[in-house]
Amino acid sequence: MLRKLFLLTFLALLIFSCARSPIVHRTQFIILTHQQEMELGNQAAKAILKREKLVKNPKLVERVKRVFEKLYKALPDKYKKLYDWKVYVLDNPQVNAFALPNGNIFVYKGLLDFVKSDDELAAVLAHEMAHVILRHGAEKYSTYEVASLGEYLLLGKLSPAYRQIGSLLYEAGVSIAFLLPYSREQEREADEVGLLIMQRAGFNLDGAVKLWERMTKKFAKEEPPEFLSDHPLSKERLEYVRKLVSFLKKHPEYAKKFVLPKLENS
Ligand SMILES: [Zn+2]
Repeated sequence: MLRKLFLLTFLALLIFSCARSPIVHRTQFIILTHQQEMELGNQAAKAILKREKLVKNPKLVERVKRVFEKLYKALPDKYKKLYDWKVYVLDNPQVNAFALPNGNIFVYKGLLDFVKSDDELAAVLAHEMAHVILRHGAEKYSTYEVASLGEYLLLGKLSPAYRQIGSLLYEAGVSIAFLLPYSREQEREADEVGLLIMQRAGFNLDGAVKLWERMTKKFAKEEPPEFLSDHPLSKERLEYVRKLVSFLKKHPEYAKKFVLPKLENS
């Protein structure tokens, strides 16, 4: 009986292209290879860069690049090499940021006006980098492809913050699944791994707590940006981030090893 069950489970695993996510060790359903993930990300980035305006102010761009570079340098080598890590600053007043599965990260100018320190900016960038490392984009893509929803239908599911970029990707024939909201579980994972990256890079983790608190207030009624996704940002999520931050500050060895502590997720 047990053996039969094992066999069935094994077959199901094969059929459903399950992968194990790094660091958080969750079973993921992903139908893309790493290479396909990179290609889809490249296509999407190209389409976005063709149509969206980039910020020209070198001071702003340099600031984002400096923080991003510091985070990148703190990644374990394996993840440095795996993606095409780049950051772009879009000339758009929205308080928002998002990542493509190839490691290209887009920050909106509005976010730069909102953050009060490099630590806060690092919190958002590290959160986005974590989505890439954890392959959340490929996971979203896989779920929606298998549900065989057309891109046209997907457009209706995008939050207003992404509709503009979504429709331009759609026009360019590029998948917009990457812009769909993440699940609560994916957000929690990106929060967790983002904090590890931040700490490795030497940023103050309190920046994440402060930013999340102000974001929660600001977006209590408005449509939230990507990194908040769940709407409204749950008290539980904020509470958990606080708890994790105070633990990690006492135990920096976790970030050093790039592993997550087992805390009760309440
Ligand atoms: Zn997120």
